[in-house]
Amino acid sequence: MKTKGNALISIIFSCVILLCIAPAKAQTPALKVQKIATDLYLLVGNGGNGAFLLSPDAVLVVDSKNDPTTASEIVQEVKKLTTAPIRYLINTHYHGDHTHGNQVFSPLATIISHQNTRDNIIRFNLPRNEEYRTSRLPQMLSEQEAKVAQLESQNSPQLQEERKRLEELKSTAEELEQLRLTPPSLTFETQCTVYLDDYTVELIYLGEGHTNGDVVVYFPQQKVIHLGDLLFHQIIPYIDVAAGADTAHWIEILNQVKQMEVETIIPGHGELTDIAGLEEFINYLSDLRQEVKKYIDQDQALEDIKENLRLPKYSHFSGYNARLSGNVEAIYWELTRGN
Ligand SMILES: [Zn+2]
Repeated sequence: MKTKGNALISIIFSCVILLCIAPAKAQTPALKVQKIATDLYLLVGNGGNGAFLLSPDAVLVVDSKNDPTTASEIVQEVKKLTTAPIRYLINTHYHGDHTHGNQVFSPLATIISHQNTRDNIIRFNLPRNEEYRTSRLPQMLSEQEAKVAQLESQNSPQLQEERKRLEELKSTAEELEQLRLTPPSLTFETQCTVYLDDYTVELIYLGEGHTNGDVVVYFPQQKVIHLGDLLFHQIIPYIDVAAGADTAHWIEILNQVKQMEVETIIPGHGELTDIAGLEEFINYLSDLRQEVKKYIDQDQALEDIKENLRLPKYSHFSGYNARLSGNVEAIYWELTRGN
């Protein structure tokens, strides 16, 4: 539990810091497949939570995870269970930990997303990845090589750890060389229904939340919904201001989801949950907005708010110490927009 939490944090933190570049394969745990309802499976590990639905004639996959290697593992896992082809891949939103495996699915399947997600992959992921691959990562590699060489000469106890870090960076570089960012081939604006034999899958866009392109994937027969990163279960979320995140509207979206006939909720990150888990997250966003507003009304400067604002009720959320202030800042800008 603890290790998994930390792994998730490192993934999300990497996402924030490295602008959603896939973290090194060596750093992440193996892919785990779990049956959660009739013909519906959860995929945990190496990126945001994924899922797939089997029908006699076709398979639908939700999100392609961190990298092509992991995406190939998803294809292998599906093949263990059925001979039906993978016909659809849904991208819940544009972040690399949900889309960097797309290239593996593109020869097999129609990749579907909201129009803004396709636009965001082109607008954000392509230039960011190129900059990271050609400039930032080579620099990090040469710095790490120099560090290891120096520790070797000193016979330092830190040597083993720093060598491991160097291997992880090399592994990331190898993955990046293989990565060909692949935008979705089919987009929609509000709603799209996919028919798989007797099953229907509803893809619904409810407006700006975690980004401006989040799609919820509803499996009505299974009473399961995949919320992408509209839900971080007991994890401090990432609020992607640059891609149009809006926490006020995010709360409205989640309140709409609460009205749906749902028994099981797949969050983008964290353990499988239900309406109670959803409510806890809605309360987190609401309480945080309320607190930030209180400090703004007292004319406190952003740096002071980041320093002073605490929400101990949510201190059990992973990333509470490291990332709460980032959430405070995002909401501060949202509330003072246009002032
Ligand atoms: Zn995300």
